Amino acid sequence: MVKNKTIRIDKHGFYGKFGGAYIPEMLFGNVEELRLCYNEVINTSEFQMKFRSLLKDYVGRPSPLYFAERLSEKYKTQIYLKREDLNHTGAHKINNTIGQILMAKHLGKTRIIAETGAGQHGVATATVCALQGLECIVFMGEIDIKRQAPNVARMKMLGAEVRPATSGSKTLKDATNEAIRDWINNPSDTHYIIGSVVGPHPYPDMVAQFQSVISEEMKWQLQEQVGRDYPDYIIACVGGGSNAAGAYYHYLNEPTVKLVAVEAAGLGVETGESAATSVLGTEGIIHGSKTLLMQTKDGQIIEPYSLSAGLDYPGIGPMHAHLIQSGRASTYSVTDNEALAAALELTRLEGIIPALESAHAFASLKKQNFRDSDVIVVNLSGRGDKDLDTYTKFLNKHE
Ligand SMILES: *Cc1c(COP(=O)(O)O)cnc(C)c1O
Repeated sequence: MVKNKTIRIDKHGFYGKFGGAYIPEMLFGNVEELRLCYNEVINTSEFQMKFRSLLKDYVGRPSPLYFAERLSEKYKTQIYLKREDLNHTGAHKINNTIGQILMAKHLGKTRIIAETGAGQHGVATATVCALQGLECIVFMGEIDIKRQAPNVARMKMLGAEVRPATSGSKTLKDATNEAIRDWINNPSDTHYIIGSVVGPHPYPDMVAQFQSVISEEMKWQLQEQVGRDYPDYIIACVGGGSNAAGAYYHYLNEPTVKLVAVEAAGLGVETGESAATSVLGTEGIIHGSKTLLMQTKDGQIIEPYSLSAGLDYPGIGPMHAHLIQSGRASTYSVTDNEALAAALELTRLEGIIPALESAHAFASLKKQNFRDSDVIVVNLSGRGDKDLDTYTKFLNKHE
């Protein structure tokens, strides 16, 4: 237990034993350039002014903190929703891409690359590239391009080139490999916008800082609405872990605030069709950092499965690996069907259709014991428009 130890990244980019930068020699220059300057740049008033102004007038922040009365009644406690679903482009991902596009501009980069699975991060990246007039190439598995046609169309309309990854399983992991290869070949003019708190140091920390606006707002919103600036629980779904990192950030070292990470169990943790990394994962290196990941005994990555594309990732960010292993955060796994039912429940009780990823966080409410007086914040990471086909199939089966 590290209950009394401060949780923060060390100067080598580690959270406890997780993190670091395990990268090929050829990437060293790019990553080092970023590592040496990211903190300094983020903390200049010039950067903060641009970042804050775009978050306010372009993204639409602050996102509301909404007291969910009927949901609270149902679970006999006090539930507040942090409404990241109301952001421009429909999720928390834009907070990070805004930060990184400003970082890229500061570094004098003119070309942006990104990887995407379901296309959500690709759309958020293509959006900020259009906004800032930078060239944008999004790597996406050939299979995902077929599965996620609407997001591919959005990226193209926004002016991005969507480049298919045709190796391996032709999904997210292969798209990431292609993006890394591209970065190695274009070291001077290109910035790689990673979409979650994963990848080599400094990405996990940089992305967490950009997303930390979520808990920064929570503090004053809770103060206004509840009379104290902290909740008893913060619940968030975890794929790579960026929305959770943002929602936890300013409470990491406040042990009275219970941090809850909800992972996708897919068809069930024991079925072989799952993405519950904290249960199924072991220590290893993925995408440049040491963390928990799903792998075979000889270190081959096991393909994850979840109906929700945003949680379908074989690792978790190193901060979360540390929070979970040290006991600071607790975890729940939620199956596809539990998440679908929770999405319908939230819709019918509050008139809010959540993203299927976010629905996993809501499904965990049933698995926990709250007191009447507890203040719970659920981070509603995104809206459900993109999941309507999936929801419609579920409804047709159940009503
Ligand atoms: C991408 C996505 C996630 C998962 O990503 P994290 O980095 O774990 O936050 C969760 N919710 C939504 C709506 C997403 O689009």
